[in-house]
Amino acid sequence: MANVLLRHRDIADINKIDVYKKNGGFDALKKAVSKMQPNEVTDMVKNSGLRGRGGAGFPTGMKWSFIDTKNWPHYVVANADESEPGTFKDREIMESNPFQFLEGLAIASYAVGANAAYIYLRGEFWQVAATLDEKIADMEKAGYLGENLFGTEYSLKIYTHLGAGAYICGEETALLESLEGKRGQPRVRPPFPPSFGLYGKPTIINNVETFTNVTPILANGAEWYKSMGTADSAGVKIFSLSGRVRKPGNYELPFGTTFRQLIYEHGGGILDGRPVKAIMPAGASSSLIAVDDKVLDTPMDYATVRTLGADLGSASVIVLDDTVDIDWVINKTIHFFKHESCGKCTTCREGNYWMKNLTERIHSGTGAQNDVDLLLNVAKQMQGKCLCALGEFSTMAVVTGIERFPQDFKKAVKA
Ligand code: SF4
Repeated sequence: MANVLLRHRDIADINKIDVYKKNGGFDALKKAVSKMQPNEVTDMVKNSGLRGRGGAGFPTGMKWSFIDTKNWPHYVVANADESEPGTFKDREIMESNPFQFLEGLAIASYAVGANAAYIYLRGEFWQVAATLDEKIADMEKAGYLGENLFGTEYSLKIYTHLGAGAYICGEETALLESLEGKRGQPRVRPPFPPSFGLYGKPTIINNVETFTNVTPILANGAEWYKSMGTADSAGVKIFSLSGRVRKPGNYELPFGTTFRQLIYEHGGGILDGRPVKAIMPAGASSSLIAVDDKVLDTPMDYATVRTLGADLGSASVIVLDDTVDIDWVINKTIHFFKHESCGKCTTCREGNYWMKNLTERIHSGTGAQNDVDLLLNVAKQMQGKCLCALGEFSTMAVVTGIERFPQDFKKAVKA
């Protein structure tokens, strides 16, 4: 099956505007702006079943329909702050198939009545930002951005904006604060961005991969999109596969593909032929799934993965084999979250500090069973009490690691 999102793998030079145009580029934007009403565009995206690809899986068209139409101007923001350990899909899209992403962003802007859209990139993506600036200039020159698109009254400018490299700025309200030039820390919600977003104005924020799906949906229709994937999760997804696999990388596959197919058919299996011990399906913020045959044959969609006690999130599938100790894994994840905690709420700031101390002690072999019990207690106390998802999800690998792999912790504290 031809790629829907990673089209550069099938069509050489699709990152050049002429090649993109020759292959149907900007037809979807033209159709939306010149033949459809904004609400018709939103309805088509709603009917397609597209869900946000940033991790939460919220229905995209529904989010767009929440925009406050009594308060203007409106803004659209692309979240390109891809920083989750194990996630590397948006970068490939922006570097290699940038026009499809930019076209989807322009369609979304038209749908919600925004005349300005911002792409917020993590600071380390400065080369990607330079690439996108070139592509935006190409689109302006060719009349696909700017004033009076396709002879209509609709006008749009797209801007790139580099953050300073903070993981928390992937949280949508922290991103907005940073975009406004303030310290990147989450806002208390409600109000939510569709009513109070950038500069206090109604704002729609979606992930890069989400916008990249919008273009083919507009081109081919909602039914076409729904014909791929599962009833719960329509369409295709880019799975970022990493860990102890032979062929790590991005794989575009329909939702409903099993873990076994991803790991063995696409990822070439496990290094040295070892068995799979655990899977983190959503990067470092994921729960750890203890793997058996039933798990390997589980179809990957949002609802089904939840039955395994984990979230699919952004589908950053980290595979661990039996050479990996889980106390080492949670030591690494907590090191990351302690470093990235923005410090705004005590639960996350102090909780991650203590979880780091305890995981260090346990992993270094100087801990005792009391430390494991205390670590589990601290993590559970944090749950439901953090201001944003960073704090909540920092506890996932700890709790599931200790509860599902107790033997690894017994071994660590005995050593
Ligand atoms: Fe900041 Fe952590 Fe609180 Fe989120 S949960 S606001 S990252 S301190």
